[in-house]
Order: sequence, then C-alpha cells, then structure tokens
Amino acid sequence: MEKNLISLVIPVFEEETIIYENIITVKNILEANEINYEFIIVDDGSKDYTWVEIGRLKTHIINLKAYRLSRNFGKEAALCAGLEMASGDAVIVMDADLQHPPEVIPQMIKLWEEQSFEVVDGVKKSRGREKTLNFLSAGLFYKLLDKFSGINLKNASDFKLMDAKVVDAWRMLPEKDTFFRAMSFWVGFRRTSLEFEVAERTAGKSKWSVISLLKLAITAITSFSSIPLHLVSFLGSLFLIGSFALGIHTLYMKFSGAAVSGFTTVILLLLIIGSTLMISLGIIGEYISRIYNEVKRRPRYIISEEISNKKDN
Ligand code: UDP
Ligand code: MG
Repeated sequence: MEKNLISLVIPVFEEETIIYENIITVKNILEANEINYEFIIVDDGSKDYTWVEIGRLKTHIINLKAYRLSRNFGKEAALCAGLEMASGDAVIVMDADLQHPPEVIPQMIKLWEEQSFEVVDGVKKSRGREKTLNFLSAGLFYKLLDKFSGINLKNASDFKLMDAKVVDAWRMLPEKDTFFRAMSFWVGFRRTSLEFEVAERTAGKSKWSVISLLKLAITAITSFSSIPLHLVSFLGSLFLIGSFALGIHTLYMKFSGAAVSGFTTVILLLLIIGSTLMISLGIIGEYISRIYNEVKRRPRYIISEEISNKKDN
C-alpha cells in the first residue's frame, strides 16, 4: 500500500544560522520513522542568506518545495502560502526554530492514521522560557479572545497536523487577514490535542515585536468577534440613562435657584464622554479598516522565486 504523504509547512524569516541544520534534523527524524514526506518551506522575504541556505538543502532533500515571498508579509501570510502549496494527505505546520519538537511528529501522524482524527493540535505544556511581559500580555490576550469570541486558545500553538480535507476547507476561507490558530479551530472537524514541551530556540532570536503581536491580537479579535462594537452601543445607552438623571437634576437645581456651582460635574462629564467617544470611534475605525483591507482584494502574498525538487513517483 502506498504510504500517506505528509507535507511539512515551515514559514521562515531570517533564520540563516539555523534553517539548514534544523531542516536536516527534521528530515532525519522523518526518515528514521519511515514517513513519506515533502517539505514546503516559505521564506517570508528574509534579507539575510536564508534563501541561499534553503537552496543548499536541494541536494539533500528530494521532496522539497520552497517559495520565496517578495517581501516580509508576516508569518500568517507565509503559512497561507505554504498551506496552498501543500499536496499531502495530511499537512503539518511547524516553526523553523525547532521550538515545536519534531520528535512528536510520529505521534501526531499516528493519531491521525490510527484514530482518524482530522486535526491534531499541538498544545504547549508550559510556555517555555518567556519574558514576563510577553507571558502576561499573552495571558490577557487569550482571556479577551475567549470572552469575546468563545475561542479558547490558551496554550494553543501553530504546531498542528491537519487532514487534507481540513486544509481544503481552510483554503475556501476568503479573508485576506488571517489568524491561523483560530481559523483552524473555526473550521471544526474531529480534533484532538497533543501536549508538547516548548523547546528553546536553537539559535537566533524571536521575530515578534510588541507592535506585531498587538497587530495580530487586533486581527484576531476583530475577525472573530463583534462584541467590541456592541460594547460601544452598550456604553452609549448607559450614558443616555445617566444623562436623563443628570438632566432632571440640573433642571431641578435651575428652577429652585441653586444653580452655577457644579463645575466639577461639567469637567468630569466632558472627560468621560470625550474619552468614551474617542474609544468608540477607534473601535469602529478598527473594524472599518479591516473591511477596507478585505475589500481591496489584494493577494495575501506574492511569490518571487521558487525551488521545486519533486521526487517522481
Ligand atoms: N516567521 C515568519 N515571518 C515573520 C516572523 C516569523 O515566517 O514575519 C517565522 C519564523 O521564522 C519561525 C516562526 O515564524 O519559523 C516563529 O517565529 P519566532 O520563533 O520568531 O516566534 P516565537 O517562537 O517567538 O513565537
Ligand atoms: Mg520561536
């Protein structure tokens, strides 16, 4: 019987120091477990020698497809490119820095083949060594997302196995701004999770800045929930009720001849209403900018070069 083909989708951004060895490590593990694989490596517009290093892999890996994006489109876009190019019976998405331990790949495949789960989610046992600030903000972000959209991503990761069916379903989602973790959850299917210990990065450093994480958080929340918009209406109604009470009070004071004093109230009201209005406008703006982005219908990424080393079988 022909063995199932597993596509490994790996987004890479400026990892010249580690990419070559790491891919060879993964390949050795796959071969030791007699897995029929193909590598889909997406270079997310690295400015260093990452693409050259990927080119060097050509002589060692028969089943290699690599794509170079024309600029840095971000990990989400790189993942989309990889998923679109994958042709395996199942696809495994993983990071290039071996923080997603390749040793658990055989287990993932086993869960898929033997127990016919269609998605195997890699779940972080602990979050590894992270800066406290990152840890706290990630915690807050997942809490918010869970509250707003009902999608619980605590300890979720981008390390996943997906059946070809799931990848097809994912490909049908048309939005340009994607959030892989939540979208792969949204499509449903029979899923299970597999715990893994987050490894240390083999070398190099994390590519996420506070700004890029913040952007991702806003994409995630605005694409999976409209509660912030309802919040605006809710606050509006609250202030309406408040203003009725205050209006009656003011009128009463005026007619009873005790007006004038009460500058504090005016200043407080100005501050509160002003800031609420601004935040509300900001939230609406956030959604409008997302609509604007989607309406432009630009491609998620642009490929500038590719390597295809397909084994003929
Ligand atoms: N990555 C990418 N594009 C980017 C940033 C990161 O393709 O703009 C890749 C990176 O090369 C790595 C993976 O995404 O394979 C995870 O990135 P990183 O290790 O920097 O993130 P962390 O592990 O800190 O979440
Ligand atoms: Mg990493």
